[in-house]
Amino acid sequence: MATPALMQNYGNRTLTLVRGEGNYVWDDAGRRYLDAIAGIAVCGLGHCHPAVTEALHDQARTLLHTSNLYNIPAQEQLADRLAGLSGMDNMFFSNSGAEANEAAIKLARRFGHQRGHAAPKIVVMEGAFHGRTLATLAATGNEKIQQGFAPLPEGFLRAPFDDVAAVEKLAARHDDIVAVLVEPVQGEGGIHVPAPDYLEQLRELCDRRGWLLMLDEIQTANGRSGKLFAYQHREGLLPDVVTTAKGLGNGVPIGACLARGAAAQLFTAGTHGSTFGGNPLACRAGLAVLDTLESEWLIERAAQLGARLQAQLREQLAGCDAVKEIRGLGLLLGIELDRPCAELVELARAEDLLINVTAGNVVRLLPPLTLTDAECERIANTVGTLIQQFGRCAA
Ligand SMILES: *Cc1c(COP(=O)(O)O)cnc(C)c1O
Repeated sequence: MATPALMQNYGNRTLTLVRGEGNYVWDDAGRRYLDAIAGIAVCGLGHCHPAVTEALHDQARTLLHTSNLYNIPAQEQLADRLAGLSGMDNMFFSNSGAEANEAAIKLARRFGHQRGHAAPKIVVMEGAFHGRTLATLAATGNEKIQQGFAPLPEGFLRAPFDDVAAVEKLAARHDDIVAVLVEPVQGEGGIHVPAPDYLEQLRELCDRRGWLLMLDEIQTANGRSGKLFAYQHREGLLPDVVTTAKGLGNGVPIGACLARGAAAQLFTAGTHGSTFGGNPLACRAGLAVLDTLESEWLIERAAQLGARLQAQLREQLAGCDAVKEIRGLGLLLGIELDRPCAELVELARAEDLLINVTAGNVVRLLPPLTLTDAECERIANTVGTLIQQFGRCAA
C-alpha cells in the first residue's frame, strides 16, 4: 500500500481502514475491529455518527466554503454555543490543534508586548505535547521530536509538570514571563494526571503575577475527560485561554482558541486569520457534535465509563508486576508498563482491537464516548490478558 509518492514521516503503516460505523472500523479485507483509539481522541461519537453525517450532507449541498471575508452563520452559532458552555468570552477557529495553539501563543506574545516586554516568555512543561508547527514544537517538551528542526522559535521556559513550586522558581528568575501553557492531563506524554489542585494553584500564581493561564485541551476537551472541558472538573476555575480541536468535529478538521477577559481583546482586525478556519462545513460538524454530546448524555457517560474501565483494568491487572501505574481521567486512560511495549498494538490487533502506545511504555486507551458496557468489558479483558502475557504475569 505504501506509495513512494507519500513522504515517509508516518513510518510503516500496516493496516488499511476503509469503513467505520459506531465503535467499529473495517479493514480492506473486511475484518472488523473495536476502535479504542477513535482516531486519536477525535471520533468521540464513534464513526460516521448519523447526526454529524446528516449535518455534513446538508451543508455540502448548501455551501462548503466562503472564507472569512464574509459572515458565517454556523461559525457564529458554534462560537455562541461554545462560549456559553465554557464560560469563555470569544474564540478563533482554526483547522487543527497546532494552529489553535499557535493562536494562543500569539495571544500571549501580544499580551506581553502590551505590557512592555519586547521578548515575552511562556512557561511550558516537561513532557508536554503542543503540536508540530515550529512554535508549538518549541513549546513541546520532547527533544526527540525537536531534533533536526533548529532554529526553533524562542520565548519558552520549561518546568517539570505538576510542580507549581518549579514555576514559582522560574518567576523569581525571569521578569518577562507573561503566560503558562499546560495540558490539564498530558496526553501524548503518557496520560499524566496532575494533583487535583494543580490548575487552581497555577491559576492563583497567574493571578498574582498577572500572567495568562492557557490550557491546551486539544485532547482532553469535548467530553473525553468526563466534562466538556477538563478544567470544569474544578468548580469555578476558568483559564484565560483554552485551545481544543481533536473531538470537536468528530473527524472534520477544526480547532478553536477560546479567550476570556483581557485575552479576549488582544486580536484586532488584521492581527490573525485563516483561510479555512471556521468554515461552514467544519462548524456544522462542531454544532452536531455539541448537540449529540448533550442529547445522548455522552459527557456523563464518559465519566462513568472511564471509572468503570479503570476499575476493570485494575482488577484484571492486580498483582501484575509489569504494570507500574493505571491512570486517567474519563476516557483518557493510560497503563504504564515497566518496559517498552509497542508490540502490544499488534497483539491487540490480532484480537480485533485497536489500541495505542505512547511515550514508549504507556498503553493509551481513547475509545469513543459511545462505548457500550459490553465493549468496555471486552477492552478491559483483552488489554488485561495481553498485558499479563506480555509482562509474564501469572493470570
Ligand atoms: C494532538 C494534540 C495537539 C496537536 O494537534 P494537531 O491537530 O495534530 O495539530 C496539540 N496539543 C495536544 C495536547 C494534542 O493532544
